[in-house]
Amino acid sequence: MRLIILGPPGSGKGTQSDIIKEKMELEKLSTGDLLRSEINKESPVGLEAKQFMDKGELVPDAVMIDILGIYIDKFEKEGKGYILDGFPRTKPQAEALMKMLKEKNAPLSAAILVDVAEEKVIKRLTNRWTCKNCQAIFNYLDGLPKDEKCSKCGGKLYQRSDDKKETIINRLKVYKKNTEPLIEYFQQNDLLVTVSGEGNIESIMENIIKLLEK
Ligand code: AMP
Repeated sequence: MRLIILGPPGSGKGTQSDIIKEKMELEKLSTGDLLRSEINKESPVGLEAKQFMDKGELVPDAVMIDILGIYIDKFEKEGKGYILDGFPRTKPQAEALMKMLKEKNAPLSAAILVDVAEEKVIKRLTNRWTCKNCQAIFNYLDGLPKDEKCSKCGGKLYQRSDDKKETIINRLKVYKKNTEPLIEYFQQNDLLVTVSGEGNIESIMENIIKLLEK
């Protein structure tokens, strides 16, 4: 199984891809998590990416396509199925991914779109707290775990620097301009599976699994 998961920032695609990863025994690559970990290490890629991420802009395609290539090679060599969260985000990234997979004779199984209205996304993101250690997500409105520590691993919770209102608005603009056109791209390739991202986490996940089985 080779999957990608698309959706606006705050659609819950990170949470859903974590569950799909466990249920379907897949590897997961979240390009956002990977970049944040490079920023923490202050690596050259991290320092370059930070300038874009803090403004809600996309990191250049060439950087992202190189990173992705390394992971696709690794997953395919190990014979593992995988889910990509946060890649592709632009048409050139989608085309590069499809080309890589074609060369490896490794077809994409589906592109899952998690669909959520813009107002909901803004509310979710402004209230989103993330675990610094395992990247688990909590919503301030549901009440944060005790001492603002992750209930899964005990890591410290923080608000991502790109979860500020102005940056969120820009991320949504960037999504509309660069990533939304991919919906049509994957539809034309007969790979799109759309699920509503509104409702509880379990029922969204069950819908995704049902659609994938079809
Ligand atoms: P995310 O955690 O998926 O919301 O990603 C956070 C930020 O990382 C995005 O706003 C971008 O700045 C950057 N990023 C993650 N994935 C990509 C990608 N495939 N292409 C370009 N930038 C990306």
